[in-house]
Amino acid sequence: MADSSANEQEISVGPLKKTSVGVPAIASSMRYAYEEMGTRRSLQTLLKMNHVDGFDCPSCAWPDPDPEHRKTAEFCENGAKAVAWEATRKRVDAAFFAEHSIADLRSQDDHWLEHHGRLTEPMYLAPGATHYAPISWDDAIALVADRLRGLPDPNRAVFYTSGRASNEAAFVYQLLARRLGTNNLPDCSNMCHESSGAALSETIGVGKGVVTLDDLEHHAELIVIVGQNPGTNHPRMLTALEHAKRRGARIVAINPLPEAGFGRFRNPQTPRGLAGTGTVLADSYLPVRVNGDLALFAAVNKALLAREDDHPGSTLDRDFIERYCDGFDAAAQGWRDLDWDVLTAQAGLSRRQIEDLASAVTEAGSVIVCWAMGLTQHRNAVATIREIVNFLLLRGNIGRPGAGPSPIRGHSNVQGDRTMGIWEKMPDAFLDALRDEFGFDPPRQHGWDTVDTIRALRDHRVDVFFALGGNFVSATPDTELTEASMANCALTVHVATKLNRSHLCHGTEALLLPCLGRTERDVQAAGEQFVTVEDSMSMVHASSGRLAPGSDGLRSEIAIVTALGHALFGDDVGWRQMGADYRVIRKHIEHVVPGFQAFEERVAQPGGFMLPRGPHDSRTFKTATGKARFTVNPPTTVEVPEGHLLLQTVRSHDQFNTTVYGLDDRYRGIKGGRRVVFVNADDLRDRALADGDLVDVVSVAPDGERRAKAFRAVAYPTPRGCVAAYFPEANVLVPIDSVAEVSNTPASKSVVVRLERAG
Ligand code: SF4
Repeated sequence: MADSSANEQEISVGPLKKTSVGVPAIASSMRYAYEEMGTRRSLQTLLKMNHVDGFDCPSCAWPDPDPEHRKTAEFCENGAKAVAWEATRKRVDAAFFAEHSIADLRSQDDHWLEHHGRLTEPMYLAPGATHYAPISWDDAIALVADRLRGLPDPNRAVFYTSGRASNEAAFVYQLLARRLGTNNLPDCSNMCHESSGAALSETIGVGKGVVTLDDLEHHAELIVIVGQNPGTNHPRMLTALEHAKRRGARIVAINPLPEAGFGRFRNPQTPRGLAGTGTVLADSYLPVRVNGDLALFAAVNKALLAREDDHPGSTLDRDFIERYCDGFDAAAQGWRDLDWDVLTAQAGLSRRQIEDLASAVTEAGSVIVCWAMGLTQHRNAVATIREIVNFLLLRGNIGRPGAGPSPIRGHSNVQGDRTMGIWEKMPDAFLDALRDEFGFDPPRQHGWDTVDTIRALRDHRVDVFFALGGNFVSATPDTELTEASMANCALTVHVATKLNRSHLCHGTEALLLPCLGRTERDVQAAGEQFVTVEDSMSMVHASSGRLAPGSDGLRSEIAIVTALGHALFGDDVGWRQMGADYRVIRKHIEHVVPGFQAFEERVAQPGGFMLPRGPHDSRTFKTATGKARFTVNPPTTVEVPEGHLLLQTVRSHDQFNTTVYGLDDRYRGIKGGRRVVFVNADDLRDRALADGDLVDVVSVAPDGERRAKAFRAVAYPTPRGCVAAYFPEANVLVPIDSVAEVSNTPASKSVVVRLERAG
């Protein structure tokens, strides 16, 4: 990972903010938009974003309000940056690649690489070559088809997906991989909400959230936000929280870091936000220890049970538990056996704080729990999310307005991709439907997720690595291992809009296939096309670009995948028809994917349609027992040896996943650089270090140590023993084998490290 050290970066540190959005967000949005797109293009794009006749924001997956409630500017600062980043006027063309060798480009960081603009035509890196060079589309597709056809085993190919792929692109992509004969379909969900999917599928029978924007805005009486930083990662959520707060809901924020998004929200769409005092969102903030969430929710559940034991019928929804749940008695005994001192120490919170949360729960008629990576990227993540389900089931907080679990997705269509079949272990029901629809028998052997793919790359078990978007080597853990392992491939292929580090960590030969962005018109043989996406709350809606394609050399993701399908298999399943007219794809989706009946008609409705959510709609729980399941999750935390600390990786405010828009993190007071580590001042003092010192961060794991050099230490109000640093810079510290139980998600939020003065 090329990255200028903190030395070279002019990093300055100011006070952290307690106020979010406001005029600074408008200024920042406009600056990015103007610098990348200019005035006319900015207006063309931003005023169509998240509108019924426009395109879906290519950034996070926060749902849109009902069409009649959308604002003219229906986007946030980070949505504006994402669109500016994609619709930039800058280009990375053949001349750029002629000027810059692979070696030269590898010495640059991701911000520099992506900052140079959009790819313009297919590029090929021949074996032994030092520079990418142009190749025609026909030759590129033929080359990939030839290499795939030549594989001794289809399982020596991997098809990676980033969450930006539309439903239609994801559907034909999984069809291609399965038609070839493999389920090697790792995706970015493996690194984000896989733990949520595993826990929710087991306990309530569906692997995603079940609440709606209406539940949160208009019905929830208590909203618990845990392991999530909405101010940066889902900014329009702040508007929904403000609506809820002004309606009388209470909000509790649980996070090791005191994020600005929990403080005073200055909604730029309201006079109160622009010129007035704004709205303080969180009623209470609990600075839980990193990885202390399981202990916290077990403790709250213990407190709720104790109140019920003291006054039977006073606290728990007995009727709901008896009618819709199983496993309560074992769970209850588990809580009774827990020790308060152990729980408070593991959570890093006082008994008082925990009892206050329990009181807030008992005073609320309906409770929603929202979460993100702060919960899912730990060894015990699945157990923590199961314990949160226990927390909701105790008072029947599922299956009625304003209540339920709500994992908030970080990428615009990551949930839709999974619904479309992008998963290495799709159930037989889906594969049977695929067989019946297309007349071939899909492979049944489960494939590799992201971590297993890296292991397979390391062990020379992958010949062809194909990525539909994303930045695999920067998004994944154990950076040095992952980057080196990519070279073990015979061919690496990236479908992308912009140049990034993964394109430079290549196989013996490599291809870069530039695709249309979400903001661009997509015209195929049957005319102008639209695609569909699914947001965090299971709303499926249309998205159609408004800009002319950035260059003639671009193709849509669907056109690329269907052309490859045709090159490999002729027109056996109708690749050409699907590439020419996306309605054909949607008709297939209607036949294969549950919940998409009358797809074309329903998605034509303004705002689209909601997918079925059994637990919410009818308290139907398609679990192994047909009931919502209480589970026993003995609280655990990561053992931190003496002198060590627990690191969590985080995003800055100028970042979306691995895309780095800029080097500032306005809310945390950071300017001009990213190699910073946030440390509690007392932890610095105990190590004879001070704010501003340069340190190496060293992670320790059973298979050895990993070092991230020259980070500027920043004294920060994080709990004792807990530190934070940005990814992808800190991903080098995350061992490949440090993963969540059950979900195999990299444990990027709890890495044991020590700080050493940089030498
Ligand atoms: S909240 Fe998310 S989806 Fe909405 S505009 Fe912002 S980044 Fe885009």
